[in-house]
Parts: sequence; structure tokens; C-alpha cells
Amino acid sequence: MELKICHLYPEVLNLYGDRGNIICMRRRLEWRGIGCSVDLLRIGEKADFTQYDIFFIGGGQDFEQEVLLGDLRDGKDKSLIAAVEDGRTFLTICGGYQMMGHYYETHDGVKCEFLGAVDFCTVGADVRMIDNYCFKLGAESGGSTVVGFENHSGKTYLGAGVNPLGRVIKGNGNNGEDGTEGVRYKNVFGSYSHGPILPKNPQLCDVILESALVRKYGKAELEPLTDSFEVQAHDAVYKMITGA
Ligand code: GLN
Repeated sequence: MELKICHLYPEVLNLYGDRGNIICMRRRLEWRGIGCSVDLLRIGEKADFTQYDIFFIGGGQDFEQEVLLGDLRDGKDKSLIAAVEDGRTFLTICGGYQMMGHYYETHDGVKCEFLGAVDFCTVGADVRMIDNYCFKLGAESGGSTVVGFENHSGKTYLGAGVNPLGRVIKGNGNNGEDGTEGVRYKNVFGSYSHGPILPKNPQLCDVILESALVRKYGKAELEPLTDSFEVQAHDAVYKMITGA
């Protein structure tokens, strides 16, 4: 068994070590004897998207999001929407998450027309939402608690009937107003959580890997891992954030 990962725009969307998510996915596959390859796809580069099982898009500043708009419209947009509808797995973080929605209007009034692969939009606010935070995943994404770090001015509003990835326990999440965090649509996982998100939240990593394995092979049998350091890291940060 093998999963192929496409890391999209690694040169412009990679805040707070977001690429650590790729290392985490790769290691957790390899520890179970499952192969993993990673291709980097930069602005201007083309690829056949039907060869990939997982797409990863990290976070970036408003300016960097604006820079890649032309490249998205040069064909990647249609291929990415097709990949979403085809049930391929996406992990998208902050600026990369915003990219999956209809648009992002920055706090200084620049409107970035994004993919519209998932029904939501984002509007920049003058006050940034910055802090460690935590949330509880929805049942379809395993139900565990996730700890992370958010830093965004964009407030994301999900369309009616679109499921969040989880519910905020402490912090802002999508917009600081409705208690939602991220999005889960088909096998698209979107979150505001940098950190990177996966190393301290191994259950979420396995849910993501399983979604890709099930799509490709019809089943996923991930052997349990010890995860003692991962669980200690998660629990220590959870305690720091919530005091519980
Ligand atoms: N530029 C976006 C915002 O501020 C995304 C930031 C990020 O990826 N951390 O909302």
C-alpha cells in the first residue's frame, strides 16, 4: 500500500512550520509499513492531480494568497475542485483553508476569488484572532479534542448545511461568533490550526490517513501506535489552554 501526497504551494504557504504535517503523515504511514511519497507543486508547475491521494495546503499571509490567484486560475482550480468531488483527501490550514471557499475579502478590501470547492466565505476583520486554542472534532472526524494555534484576521462563515470540522472549546475558530472551527466536506479537512496541527493530535492524523486509504483501497487497517509523547504533548497543551 502507498499514498501519494501533493504539497501545494510550499514556497508561499508554509507558516509556523505547517509542513510538519507532511512529516507527521509520512511517518505515521511508514511506522505501519505503508509507503508514502511527497511531491512539491509550486507556482507555475503543472501535474496530473488524479495521481494524488492527499493534498496539503498550508497557511500564508494575505499578500501570498493574492500572489497565487493567477496560478490557481490557470487550470489548477478545476483540477482541485474535481479532486474534492472525487473524494480525495485534503488537509488545508488557515490561508490554505480559506482558499477552498468562495472568496476571501481582506481587511483592507482586496477580494480574492478562491476555488468555491466548499460552500463558505471569509471576510477580514481589523482585529486579528491570535492565541493557542482548542476544539472538539465532529463525530465523523473521530470526536477527539484538538489543540493548536490560530493567527488570522479572516472570519469564515460556513454555508447552510456545511459541517464544521469541530466545535470550539476555547478560542475563536472560524469567526469567534458561532462556535464553529474549520470545515469537513467529503474528505476535505480545513482548520485554522497551525502548530503544526497533526503531531500533537495523532487521532486526527489517523482519521485523515484512513480517509485516503479507504478511498484508494476500500478499507483502512491502521495498527495502533504507542503515541506516548504525542499524547503527553496534547494533554500538556490542553491543560495550559483550558486549565482542566
Ligand atoms: N491571511 C489570512 C488571515 O489573516 C490567513 C492567515 C494564516 O494563514 N495564518 O486570515
